[in-house]
Amino acid sequence: MFDIQKIRADFPILSRQINGRPLVYFDNGATSQKPKAVIDEIAEYYNEINANIHRGVHTLSQLATDAYEASREKIRAHINAEFTHEVLFTSGTTFGINLVANGFASILKPGDEILVSALEHHSNIVPWQLLCERTGAILKVIPIDENGELILSEYEKLLSDNTKIVAVNHISNALGTLNPIKALIDKAHEKSAAVLIDGAQATPHLKPDVQELDCDFYVFSGHKICGPTGTGILYGKESWLNKLPPYQGGGEMIREVSFEKTTYADLPHKFEAGTPNIEGGIVLGTAIDYLNAVGFGNIQEQERDLLAYATEKLLEIEGLKIFGPTDLSRKTAVISFNIDGIHPYDIGVILDKMGIAVRTGHHCAQPIMSFFCIPGTVRASFSFYNTREEIDLLVSGVKKAKMMLS
Ligand SMILES: *Cc1c(COP(=O)(O)O)cnc(C)c1O
Repeated sequence: MFDIQKIRADFPILSRQINGRPLVYFDNGATSQKPKAVIDEIAEYYNEINANIHRGVHTLSQLATDAYEASREKIRAHINAEFTHEVLFTSGTTFGINLVANGFASILKPGDEILVSALEHHSNIVPWQLLCERTGAILKVIPIDENGELILSEYEKLLSDNTKIVAVNHISNALGTLNPIKALIDKAHEKSAAVLIDGAQATPHLKPDVQELDCDFYVFSGHKICGPTGTGILYGKESWLNKLPPYQGGGEMIREVSFEKTTYADLPHKFEAGTPNIEGGIVLGTAIDYLNAVGFGNIQEQERDLLAYATEKLLEIEGLKIFGPTDLSRKTAVISFNIDGIHPYDIGVILDKMGIAVRTGHHCAQPIMSFFCIPGTVRASFSFYNTREEIDLLVSGVKKAKMMLS
């Protein structure tokens, strides 16, 4: 049973006030709030088992190592990877994409092509541009239509034998568009191109099955799925992870070091140089347990209700335009909007005075804003712990802001 009041009670921050009003947190696309189970587990780790991992013979080091590796296995099961060693701990989505892009520097030749989409976060654009500068590879962009959806026929035209890697998001952070990634992956594989999926916005809403998707890499951030900041996961197929060179050199990632030659450790340690965010990795597992206990079916049902309700209510406001798919089954609980003649930033400031947290600006996706010829949008992104009452507050807040600003 999904009991929203019980769920909300799990998140201490949701009961605080902002500017004298109850907090309405609609910036979940930027980072999620954390349940008490996660917050407590952080203290528990430092109170009870803090030690460095994979090195000590002593009891605490064993306990910390066991907890860290148990979390890795938990995450493997969550995304249905075939092997635990295909699950690499990272500091987040950005790090994961950079790791893969850097690895491809040893594979690409001048004239090879990398495909990204016009819907990407800067994190899934810039690392590939850097890679192009290093290798002479060429970056090509899958265009979008007026609804903020990828144009698949154009994608098929762009794919060629020169395409070596396709990097697209599962869900757009700026518009909420749910991309047909299974079809994208299958088409890329017909050309033997590798596919990296940026799952930063998808993992808060759904459980990806990397074997069913058959993606070569899947990356996401812990902080967007109720876990700590500075945590993330890079899933990579074993064959690719064996092929790519290490990203960073240091302790933990070696088998044998001499000044003549160093050999690398087996997966996953080859890509995990140095002391990692041990507590973060362990607590990321706790966050995933929490989400699974709530249930992704319940999460989706609640968020779909919020999306439909908020879309209907906001569209009643004259001059308000929502960017992104109009078919709500093709997007997640993100509403990116503008009001005629009003700068999004000004709306955000007024909403904050009322305790309502939204994001304004380009959402690290400037090419999307250029496509729509706008400086940015107001983005309200919902989570399963939000309510219709909070949406009513948003709608009346936006109406008030519109009155004050026009
Ligand atoms: C948030 C986000 C990123 C970057 O994630 P970090 O946690 O900042 O590394 C990349 N892509 C998308 C789609 C995102 O939403």
